[in-house]
Amino acid sequence: MVDAEIVAIGSELLTPFRQDTNSLFLTERLNAMGIEVRFKAVVGDRRADLVDAAKTALRRADLVIFMGGLGPTEDDLTRECVAEALGRRLRRDPDIIADLYKRFSKWRTGMPANNERQADVVEGAEVVPNANGSAPGQFLRVEHAGTARTVVLMPGPPHELKAMFDREVAPRLGKGRQEEFIAARELRVAMMPESLCDSRIAPIYTRYQDVETTILAGAGDISLHLRARAASLEEADRRVASLAGEIEDELEEAVYSANGEHLEQIVGYFLQLQGATLAVAESCTGGQLAKRVTSVAGSSRYFVGGAVVYSNALKTQFAGVPPELIAEHGAVSREVAASLAEGIRSRSGSTYGLGVTGIAGPAGGSEEKPVGLVYHALSDGRNTEVVERKFPGDRQRVRSWAAQQALDMLRLRLMRQ
Ligand code: AMP
Ligand code: MG
Repeated sequence: MVDAEIVAIGSELLTPFRQDTNSLFLTERLNAMGIEVRFKAVVGDRRADLVDAAKTALRRADLVIFMGGLGPTEDDLTRECVAEALGRRLRRDPDIIADLYKRFSKWRTGMPANNERQADVVEGAEVVPNANGSAPGQFLRVEHAGTARTVVLMPGPPHELKAMFDREVAPRLGKGRQEEFIAARELRVAMMPESLCDSRIAPIYTRYQDVETTILAGAGDISLHLRARAASLEEADRRVASLAGEIEDELEEAVYSANGEHLEQIVGYFLQLQGATLAVAESCTGGQLAKRVTSVAGSSRYFVGGAVVYSNALKTQFAGVPPELIAEHGAVSREVAASLAEGIRSRSGSTYGLGVTGIAGPAGGSEEKPVGLVYHALSDGRNTEVVERKFPGDRQRVRSWAAQQALDMLRLRLMRQ
């Protein structure tokens, strides 16, 4: 197993104005080669910090990729700092100098002397050509503190780095190495608290030492990322599929996707498959349901439309909720939710209608109807199902939970069809 560290160098990368995007590109490429990125560091153009970061990386990673700071100016310190961390000298490479003079002669200007710094090479390193710029890269394999290390230096400008990695560095990294493959899968789980989800699946995934499991939780939406690496893609896939299968058996219907699709995509898939259509009447979600459903390309085939009915008057006007019902039970009630779903369904002629009404907060709650209380209804013209939930969190989270709950009711109904 090869573990890598990427060190991004440049003071601009520590400001709010510029990001280290190169490491995202590199991580994707390295992962595809079966190399895992264990650490990333971002360091400014300061000698002591750079030497420190280089020493740390060389201590803990088999492959260390430095990028940036290979230019000709005083703040381009990568070459000398990496050499210092390795305890090696720099040599000035005559071929690079000749190449630099050739480049400058094209512009018919003299070459400023500081450009010669770009010809400094760490002792023992191979010079790596740069097709898109003047600063070459460097590649070396060393014994460092008794362990084998591969060290790569690349320029910071993304178009230089990308071309250099693909053309020059990847082939060198691949040489003599046993190939490894990474397989990944994303399971998505609806409407389950993260702690409950983890307590149910931890006994399973902890048995898979060779599959890395990461849990990311949003409002009513959990992503389980599974990743394995092995000598063949089939083997890596088999391990991931086996764990995914066991998790699906445990969580059953709560797993709505085994391939990372979003809930609205799954709902859309089922609606289309069954030739059914949907309309929504939303109060506290304020259009989030419609927004999510229509974020899927092709949703016009099954989504009729919807209404955002905040006021009581519009609940009546657009979704046909009887004013007496609101007066008797309140706008946030089981009865009004059901009436919203049924009203929008019958008025639009859709197969299904969803209605949502609740108290997103922070104001408007009472003892009887606290902030976070939401009623969700699903109507198919014959039956109307209502789910009452009290969600945690602030206004945005309550709204997100509510939209998720409404979509999930529909998903479960369509799945059981
Ligand atoms: P340098 O190699 O330090 O001369 O970097 C030249 C330019 O490359 C910087 O000004 C940035 O615009 C860009 N750059 C350097 N490092 C990165 C990085 N890690 N990700 C994205 N862009 C970078
Ligand atoms: Mg720089």
